[in-house]
Amino acid sequence: MKDQNYSLEFDRISYLLNPENFSNKRITVVGLGSGGTPACDHLVMNGIRIWELYDPDTLESENLVKHPRMRKDLGRLKVDIQKEWIEDRNPNVEVKTFAEDVMQSPNFIESVRRSDLVLSCSDKKSVREFVSDQCVAAKVPFVTASVFRTGIGGEIFGYIPSQTGCYKCLQLFSELNQLDLSDDALGLTEDEESRIYGLDEKEFRASGLSIDIQMIALIQVRMALSILLRESTQSMPTLKSNWIVYANRPAPGIFRSHFEAKQMLLKPQKVCYCTTSNHQLED
Ligand SMILES: [Zn+2]
Repeated sequence: MKDQNYSLEFDRISYLLNPENFSNKRITVVGLGSGGTPACDHLVMNGIRIWELYDPDTLESENLVKHPRMRKDLGRLKVDIQKEWIEDRNPNVEVKTFAEDVMQSPNFIESVRRSDLVLSCSDKKSVREFVSDQCVAAKVPFVTASVFRTGIGGEIFGYIPSQTGCYKCLQLFSELNQLDLSDDALGLTEDEESRIYGLDEKEFRASGLSIDIQMIALIQVRMALSILLRESTQSMPTLKSNWIVYANRPAPGIFRSHFEAKQMLLKPQKVCYCTTSNHQLED
């Protein structure tokens, strides 16, 4: 029997995933760029109905080599384009849009508090740290994904309150174990050097090809589904790790081969603020 609550027909995937599990789940997305957009698309197709979307930017012509949306949408806010896509794919949805930078937004913390999971898809480390802090304070899971310079690979990190470490724990752990995968540590490519120092384009970001970015986004989606389904009884195996470093291609001193993946379960680090009982942010 078909579920009358859905306009999107899940018959062909319901033996893998029961969309009923997601009927009341709310996800906040931070960043609808070339990673956040496909991540959101896949979660919509897997049954997520309730969305809060954050991105202050409009779609520009230079985005078209990486971003999956259409030329006819150039100049429109990315949150509006995505709302339209979600509503087309599944008319039975609830989508709130905020054309805001989360770090300045008066609405973001409320969105986090009412969400079941936050998807952090920004290419800025400061934003990833901010999202982690807000989620730790609100005790809400998040999954963050970022692509290393020139798209050699990327990092996916998930947080479950009081079960796993937060984004700060990850940095503490990385420092302790000398696992610095920051953009600075990975070094500048010749192209970046010439652009940054030759052409004075300080904002130039070499984030890789669309395929490099989407590989990482897809792993982020799998982790998000695993976290959302962690308490349900269904057949899909639970992901045991919350930190995955994935290689798109070999890079000297970093990745030996294509598609290399390293993963682990990062527990809360004793020295991190997220393990103390009174880490709530002030209201
Ligand atoms: Zn922590």
